[in-house]
Amino acid sequence: MRNMNGLVMALLAVTMTAVAQQPASAPQNPQPVSATQPGQAQPSQPQTNLAPPTTMNQVVDRVILREKDLVKFLSLRTPIVETYLQNLTQDPQLGPIPQDDHYFLGRMDLSDSIDRSDYLQDKGKDEGMEKRLLGGLTKKFKFQYQPLGFSWMIFADRNDFDRQHYDFHYARREFLGDVRCLVFDLTPKKDAGRGRFLGRIWVEDQDFSIVRLNGTYAHPSRNSYYFHMDSWRLNLVPGYWVPSYIYSEEGDFTAGAKNKIAFKAQTRMWGYNLKAATANDELTNIRVDSVKDDTPSAQDATPLAAEREWQQQAEDNVIERLERSGLVAPEGDVDKILQTVVNNLEITNNIELPRPVRTRVLTTSPLETFSVGNTIVLSRGLIDVLPDEGSLAMVLSHELAHIVLGHNLGSQYAFNDRMLFSDESTYQNLGFKHIPEEEAAADKKAIELLKASPYAQKLESAGLFIKALQARAPSLSALLQAHLGNNIAENGTVTRMAQLANSAPALDWNKLDQIAALPLGGRVKLNPWDDKVEIVKAQPVAITSARDKMPFEVTPFFPRLSRYSTANAPAATTAAAPTTTTTATTANATPTN
Ligand SMILES: [Zn+2]
Repeated sequence: MRNMNGLVMALLAVTMTAVAQQPASAPQNPQPVSATQPGQAQPSQPQTNLAPPTTMNQVVDRVILREKDLVKFLSLRTPIVETYLQNLTQDPQLGPIPQDDHYFLGRMDLSDSIDRSDYLQDKGKDEGMEKRLLGGLTKKFKFQYQPLGFSWMIFADRNDFDRQHYDFHYARREFLGDVRCLVFDLTPKKDAGRGRFLGRIWVEDQDFSIVRLNGTYAHPSRNSYYFHMDSWRLNLVPGYWVPSYIYSEEGDFTAGAKNKIAFKAQTRMWGYNLKAATANDELTNIRVDSVKDDTPSAQDATPLAAEREWQQQAEDNVIERLERSGLVAPEGDVDKILQTVVNNLEITNNIELPRPVRTRVLTTSPLETFSVGNTIVLSRGLIDVLPDEGSLAMVLSHELAHIVLGHNLGSQYAFNDRMLFSDESTYQNLGFKHIPEEEAAADKKAIELLKASPYAQKLESAGLFIKALQARAPSLSALLQAHLGNNIAENGTVTRMAQLANSAPALDWNKLDQIAALPLGGRVKLNPWDDKVEIVKAQPVAITSARDKMPFEVTPFFPRLSRYSTANAPAATTAAAPTTTTTATTANATPTN
């Protein structure tokens, strides 16, 4: 019971009166996100030379032991935690669709309890919502979300996961992906107190680590309410299954249901190895490669060369800083795909720049792009929802246009003192927003670039994407709130590249082969340990109704679990994706002049 009341009020879920809800309805579509990429700096493996358990009771003892190991292992980590939530409303044709949305981004501190600090302190309505949580309710928002509530289920019970507080009932064996699991139902003991886990756990059958938790928390106090959660862990480091994804869903849309709350939310955790990576860098980067400066020219820089050098320095500073705070993924294969599209645009437009254009991936969900110097940055969420290569080219062409037009931003970041800030204050310290005139000029130039490129024939889909975005924009203000770059939409109206919508066919949700935008999370896979991103390789699933399209929507997670192995290539196997046959893979696209 220690502290449990306090925790419940402070940390969990929704404050406000709420009627007990039915358990979340069945997941609509499996969501592809998968595991297993070797991390770089590996923690030492726990001692697991215990004799294999022979009874279920011994298994439960091992599960409890392993969970305590994990709590200890993670106590030094401060992963990034992101929650994106869509409140739902019932559409007669499309089923539950987003009505409005909320976004939370923070760092978790797992040392003593579970705590978090947020990145979005001075921005937007979500901050206001958080503040009001302490002061009770407002009339406008009947329910108020406490961001930490969504990440609560990284553990079943951080402090009291034991036989004194829980009954364990063995249910069955079951495979989750490649991993054979023992399934247990957990119920809190009668006097275990408020806020105890109630639900099911999946335990892998070698080391007996929990790999999945599904359920809720029992006995909420007055004015609080517990979400239902489905929490997944991935075996990203030897011996440990790391909490990675949590899906929450509430809402009963059956006839006559008096739902007071209906939402879907995805919580992702990453950046577990951020601190360790910094420490390692300090050692490995001390190296003396050559004593002589081997740059080809022995001359001094001309003023223009000095200016370019300066911009390069600013660009490198910013990207390095963002990578260090876990907001930009390390360079990888996704960048190569983006770069191919940029190259296609450059070659066909005879663009020759003094420095090459590079691309990187922002690890967050809100749809945004920006460029700093010659580096174009696209968010993971944006790449997720783009239906095809034509729409990807559209997004990249706008940023390329800024670079071609010399709309350089951020040269002030060549001063290194400007990189000295806490990760949480990144959004207050960095910004790459253009003035409206430069935005308009970039759109105009981008259309020119596209029309002269191999993507000239593919602009219909790009226009359709804009139309779909326009249709949903009024409900998705959090998803469309850029944190570093310019907004794609302002006040519910798409502004970026909006003229492409004019030449696109009519948007028709009922036309099953018209895929204007994809759900979130279907394309880019982020490794929670080392932040590397890769493109999801999933078998397309046939869309059988308009409700399957789920543009810009949140869906459940269904990672295909597999065990950590250094021999394994990054796992390619994922669950079925709610996507169509189009992919953004462009490695073979041959530009024609
Ligand atoms: Zn722009």
